[in-house]
Amino acid sequence: MDIYLVELIVFLLVVLLVTIIFMIKKKNKLKLVLFTLFMIFSVCIAGTYLLEKPHVYIASPEINLQINQYFEIKVPYTTYHMKDVTASVKVNGTVDYNKVGTYEIEYEVPTIIGEYSVEQTINVVDSIKPTITLKGDKVYNLSYSAEYEEPGFTVEDNSSENLAEKVKISKEEINETEYDIIYSVEDSSGNMAVERRKVLVIDDIAPVISLNGNANMRIPINSTYKEKGATAIDEKDGDLSDKIEISGNVNTSKAGEYKIKYTISDKSGNRAEKTRKVIVYKESINSSSDGTGVIYLTFDDGPSSSITPKILDILKEKNVKATFFVLNYSSSLEYLIKREYNEGHSIGIHGYSHVYSEIYTSDEAFMNNVTKLQKKIATTTGYSPTIIRFPGGSSNTVSKNYNKGIMSRLSKTVVDAGFRYYDWNVSSGDAGGAQTSTQVYNNVVNNLSKSRSNVVLMHDFGGNTKTLNALSDIIDYGLENGYVFKSITKDTPMVTHHINN
Ligand code: ZN
Repeated sequence: MDIYLVELIVFLLVVLLVTIIFMIKKKNKLKLVLFTLFMIFSVCIAGTYLLEKPHVYIASPEINLQINQYFEIKVPYTTYHMKDVTASVKVNGTVDYNKVGTYEIEYEVPTIIGEYSVEQTINVVDSIKPTITLKGDKVYNLSYSAEYEEPGFTVEDNSSENLAEKVKISKEEINETEYDIIYSVEDSSGNMAVERRKVLVIDDIAPVISLNGNANMRIPINSTYKEKGATAIDEKDGDLSDKIEISGNVNTSKAGEYKIKYTISDKSGNRAEKTRKVIVYKESINSSSDGTGVIYLTFDDGPSSSITPKILDILKEKNVKATFFVLNYSSSLEYLIKREYNEGHSIGIHGYSHVYSEIYTSDEAFMNNVTKLQKKIATTTGYSPTIIRFPGGSSNTVSKNYNKGIMSRLSKTVVDAGFRYYDWNVSSGDAGGAQTSTQVYNNVVNNLSKSRSNVVLMHDFGGNTKTLNALSDIIDYGLENGYVFKSITKDTPMVTHHINN
């Protein structure tokens, strides 16, 4: 039996007992009034008792929960008639925490007059935006020459929705060197998340320095070092040549190795550096008296107004001395003979005439052809050359057509007369087989030898651009490979061919 009912019955029995006590006494008007008031009071007490509601201690009639948020429904502490009746409370209703919605929970408490219930509303909501996490750096340094490569991202949301596919990626230009990559996503409850990655377009490519002239230079002691400079090209900033800083210097009066440093920085601070090695040498150290490792560049059949000046320019630029075996020249070309002489080159005798049928008819004809030119050169320069190159070389056979055995005799005659004659052991082929400057170059460099003196046959007759265009590279090759360039003097050991006539 319900404990509350027992209490009530006991109370009513007490009231009934009091009533009976009143009834068996004599009737009295005042007593009757008091009795009536007592009865009304008793009925009120009984009614209040019957109608009293239990106290269900819920925290709030409405609770908001984020989706997937853990929540445990507990039976609320409940009292009825000042007694703990929590154990008798029944819970009705369920909540799906994984699903947005409104759920009603009912707490049911038994009372004397039936079931009493309290409702609680649980709202499962999603008001939390997703979280986008960028992989890689949030500030992305992009080389201007490279393509942007998306480093990727992850996206998480409190709902278990997979949002990765829903992320929208867009680009927002800030300025020429800066833009933002914008990642945005909205979950099914309309919560929006946005992340930005800043892309800085940077120049990380250094300029390229190219040295004008040789990176390895050899110049004789007491000569002049002429700074040829360098060019610097930057992919982004263009030609920076005039901003190159050149440091270091060459003491041409002291033999040794010197370094000239070329440095350049582009606008973004990318630095490039190159070094030129300049060796100032004492001739005696670098070349032995027998001429090993020496290159004697010789130019025959000049001077010519078109080629000779340009050859002289290159020789001057490279600080290299050579030998010109000249033919008779007009007065308008005298300045070239003077220039050859004044610029330290040797002038040798090729012949007043180059016509074989005239010069090889007799020993006298040949010697006259030599001395006639010798005198003319002496008039022009004040210097009387004593070095000879035979037209066609001492090995020529064409002279057989005009005088048998003339070369055998002349080779002795000229030496007896105080001359020295020079053939060649490296032929550029520029008057014969070589068709291009590349062929000229190859013919020369492929036939050089360190173990001898190298006398190189070339020509500065008019129109010989093949040799002109190959000359710088030939000189560079020689310098880079440890050769020394010299001009032929009367003290240079003769280099001669086998005589064939
Ligand atoms: Zn010739």
